[in-house]
This record gives sequence, C-alpha cells and structure tokens, in this order.
Amino acid sequence: MRDSVFDTVDDAPRAGQAAKPAILVSACLLGVECTHRGGSKTNEAVGRLAEVARLVPICPEVAGGLPIPRPSAEIGRDGRVRTQSGDDVTHCYERGAEQALALALAEGVQGAVLKARSPSCGSREIYDGTHSGVLIDGEGVTAAALRRAGVEVISEEDL
Ligand code: SF4
Repeated sequence: MRDSVFDTVDDAPRAGQAAKPAILVSACLLGVECTHRGGSKTNEAVGRLAEVARLVPICPEVAGGLPIPRPSAEIGRDGRVRTQSGDDVTHCYERGAEQALALALAEGVQGAVLKARSPSCGSREIYDGTHSGVLIDGEGVTAAALRRAGVEVISEEDL
C-alpha cells in the first residue's frame, strides 16, 4: 500500500505536462540564486523530478519581501524568527509561508520538496535559534504552514 504522494510520482505519464502531478519546490534547489548568501542549492535529484512532475518553484523568503542577499535567521524557542543581530523578521517569514501556501493551493500541488534545515523550508530539523550551528528537531515556517493545510512535505535529502 502506498502512503506518500511521492510513491506515485514515478507512475506519471512522461508525455504531457498537464497530466503530471504538480510538486512545490524550493526555488534554490532548482538553481535559483535566492539563498541568504545569494547562491543556489542546485540538486540533481530534484531537477530530475521534472521528468515526471510539474515543478512549481518558490522561495518563501523572497516572496515574503526579503532581499538577496539577506541576514541569516533562525527560529527561537518563542517561535519568533530573528537575525543574529536580533532583528525580528517573523512577519516576512509568515508572509512568505502565506504566499507559498496560496501558490500550492492555486496550482493544486500534490506535495512539496523543500530545502532541508532552512527556517522557512526545513521539514525535519532546523537550527535552534542561538545562531551557534546547533540543530534540533523542527520545521520551518513554510513547511509547517503547508503541513497544516494537508500538503505532504519532504526534503531533497528524502528523494
Ligand atoms: Fe531556498 Fe527556501 Fe531558503 Fe528560499 S527560503 S533560499 S527556497 S531554502
């Protein structure tokens, strides 16, 4: 028995974009230079998904109004997102999550592949808010919003 939309993606017809399932993808995984450092996180396995799925890219942080490059930020114990210098940028992360969710619903996505460990896109682990490189179990703001809406979220490392 299948328990994940990603188990069915390989069965999608290879011809015909319209017949392919739509998958939301972190834009940086597809080569868009939108990370906080201004680079990309191109991932070949994610790119290959385009053979069997219609990929819908978004960078929630840019969609939320943040520039490229931008200060890195982490989610603290209080749930607020702050830069290392203490600026509270939670509203930008929440706006980005709203944009990503709206796009996901408009496109009828059947799942999302989001960049691991990002304060927006992380789906299993995130940094602990102390800006000291410590990882904890948790999810980014966008990943959480998508999951609350019933969208299955995995990372590029799960492919
Ligand atoms: Fe990539 Fe997501 Fe960070 Fe944008 S917010 S750079 S898509 S990990």
